Amino acid sequence: MRAWRVYAALVLLLTRCLQTLAYAPLSDDTLKHRIPWPETNDFDIHNGPILAPILVPRVPGTPGSLEVLNHFIKFFGNELPDWTISLQNSTSKTPTHGDKNVPFHNFIATRHPPWVSTGNAGYLTLVAHYDSKYTPEGFIGATDSAAPCAMIMSAVRSIDAALTNKWAAMESQGFDLDLDDEQSRGIQVLLLDGEEAFQSWTATDSIYGARSLAEEWDNTMYPAMSTHKTMLNSIELFVLLDLLGSGENLPIPSWMQNTHWSYQHMAEMEQRLRKLGLFKSDAKQTWLTEKEKKNDGVFQQNIMQDDHIPFVARGVPTLHLIPSHFPREWHRIGDNAEYLDIPTVEDWSLLTAAFAAEYLELEGYFDPRPQALRAARDEL
Ligand SMILES: [Zn+2]
Repeated sequence: MRAWRVYAALVLLLTRCLQTLAYAPLSDDTLKHRIPWPETNDFDIHNGPILAPILVPRVPGTPGSLEVLNHFIKFFGNELPDWTISLQNSTSKTPTHGDKNVPFHNFIATRHPPWVSTGNAGYLTLVAHYDSKYTPEGFIGATDSAAPCAMIMSAVRSIDAALTNKWAAMESQGFDLDLDDEQSRGIQVLLLDGEEAFQSWTATDSIYGARSLAEEWDNTMYPAMSTHKTMLNSIELFVLLDLLGSGENLPIPSWMQNTHWSYQHMAEMEQRLRKLGLFKSDAKQTWLTEKEKKNDGVFQQNIMQDDHIPFVARGVPTLHLIPSHFPREWHRIGDNAEYLDIPTVEDWSLLTAAFAAEYLELEGYFDPRPQALRAARDEL
């Protein structure tokens, strides 16, 4: 009896693991003719609707920071009305502000299947930080991380209609009472504040927003009988983009052994998009260079300090997309709008959208692109 119970528990556990790792490839047809590309003007550094408003100094607690936060709220409100928006606020002393409490505002946008109640949805969580460094004065942080924020915004807009189509189709088919992970899976965007140190990076002078959010979500319980115990537990995969968008094609290692499977999926997608000629940047060089690394290979998961740290410490699986060698202008005044390579930014956005579409199993739910747009891209 006892052995039978252990066996049954193992089967259940294995089934749940397989469900969690569910991931359905997109067809060539979807990549070539259906998944929406970033719109031509999205990433124009002067007047593009997504990126340009973020390319300003946005030190926590300053008017620039609030303007960028408002830009996120307006973007999701106008373009993605089915998403739920919220802010998570905190304050902290810093080494440069004396007795003053500096405010930090994390932006959170979430969408899950309409039939799933709070506490039962699991999320693919896309993350970047939107604050900029306190010094040097006028620092923009275009790759750090204005461009990653914009990549995520454009990527989720690209998959939004397919999510609507998929969930409408599922709803019309009806469900079993016991929803599986795929039927409960949603997507979440975290644009975090206060990643940068004000003086120099220490455990207490850095990642102010991420530390506060991880702690709060760890302590926010869902109703009893929910699938997930806390808001933190509902993150299935925390995908953190940082220091991306320069044209330097810096290699990105697979940092974490427990999410190497997701890195391999993204690397496979990168290779397919390059092979199909769907990338705009001319780089022949691969970004995700460790696709072939084995699960028992070397993973340097404790080296890179970033917003994922308080989440990883609480057991959240994390895919960290950051190059091992930082961009040339890292933390210098030269990390400005002109430093960005816009085709690279667009390609990262497309790759993020395609990865999310596979994670959320959206094959078959994308409408064809308008013919005119297809022709324009086919000429590339
Ligand atoms: Zn930085």
